[in-house]
Amino acid sequence: MEKVVIIRYAEIHLKGKNRGYFERVFAMNLERSLKGVRHELHRTSGRWLVAKFPEEQAEDVARRVSKVFGVHSYSLGYETGSTLEEIYEAVRLVAPKSGTFKVETHRGYKQYPLNSMEISAEIGARMLEDNPALTVDVHTPAHTVYVDVRQNGVALVFGSYGAGPGGMPVGTAGEGLLLISGGIDSPVAGYMMAKRGLVVELLHFHSYPYTNEGAKEKVVALSKILSAYTGVVRLTTVSVTHIQEEIHKKCAAELNVTLLRRFMFRIAERIAKARGLSCLVTGESLGQVASQTMEGLTSSNAVVTLPVLRPLIGFDKEEIIERAKKMGTYETSILPYEDCCTVFLPEFPATRPKLERIEREEGALDVEALIAESLATAETVRLD
Ligand code: ATP
Ligand code: MG
Repeated sequence: MEKVVIIRYAEIHLKGKNRGYFERVFAMNLERSLKGVRHELHRTSGRWLVAKFPEEQAEDVARRVSKVFGVHSYSLGYETGSTLEEIYEAVRLVAPKSGTFKVETHRGYKQYPLNSMEISAEIGARMLEDNPALTVDVHTPAHTVYVDVRQNGVALVFGSYGAGPGGMPVGTAGEGLLLISGGIDSPVAGYMMAKRGLVVELLHFHSYPYTNEGAKEKVVALSKILSAYTGVVRLTTVSVTHIQEEIHKKCAAELNVTLLRRFMFRIAERIAKARGLSCLVTGESLGQVASQTMEGLTSSNAVVTLPVLRPLIGFDKEEIIERAKKMGTYETSILPYEDCCTVFLPEFPATRPKLERIEREEGALDVEALIAESLATAETVRLD
């Protein structure tokens, strides 16, 4: 008998001819999530098993794989022989101490001398005999003990299902560049695109010395949390201080944010293209702030040709917060910090900037020179 983590995968089975490829990427991502923990990973009909890890690291193994996209559910349990004695020995380790229960058996190995009902009845009877504090309730049990007799005469025994994040293996849907601020939204946007299989690289704009090291550290912390789901991430930081100063000096105050955002998009696109990334990702949500009106989004889109993915576009703030809490970034996102956008924030930002007016204001700036100056400040770190 051996402790194992059982992994069932999500959408991968839908992918017909590409299935082999999706499974290879999935296996690679599972391996990557387990880096530094001794283990073996193998596939058995329709699921994956992690085995041969140090017993005391079982919870850690389960926690790590619970963050890998493509995992539908996982269970911490035992792999054992398939005699009733061996199965029961494992059942004792996952059985509840008291309350109502049922045994649910799945029998892949059809030559087994008992059918699934009979196996459940046998195991259930032994549990009742051993522990008078238990009672059977097949309809609404407080606990379920699962027995899975596999094709090869091996049985899996477990006491619960943990929900995985679902989605597609990261790396099966191309690569994009996430514009990550220190706020709540952008890490969630990155999570959602990675969940659909996109590899996300990260780009953060800072306004040093108006923003301090703390702001950068916060983004690094958020990026690390994100990397538990996405694998290794590359974070690039770029300064936009001189751009904000120029805009502040030469352009209409209510267009400050709009103009800055156009620079961010241009710089992001240059970096994305240089690295062969095929889209930009932002945490924008329609109407959330002045710059996220249709006019605001249009004015940013107008300066780039790469597609801009905005997975949060139809979400309420409440819904985004809920997701941020679930993925574990919320507590870090709400730490106080100076955002580069808030530094020169006008009192009344334009909510419906007209493209013509924006372009006229931008005419006062040497756009190319400002972009080049920003790109020269780029620094990249690898995080995992
Ligand atoms: P967030 O919570 O992600 O900061 P927000 O609601 O504060 O979003 P904005 O500050 O207008 O909204 O930013 C909208 C989007 O623009 C962000 O989700 C992010 O993708 C990008 N962005 C904003 N500021 C930065 C920055 N300093 N560096 C990189 N990307 C940024
Ligand atoms: Mg923000």
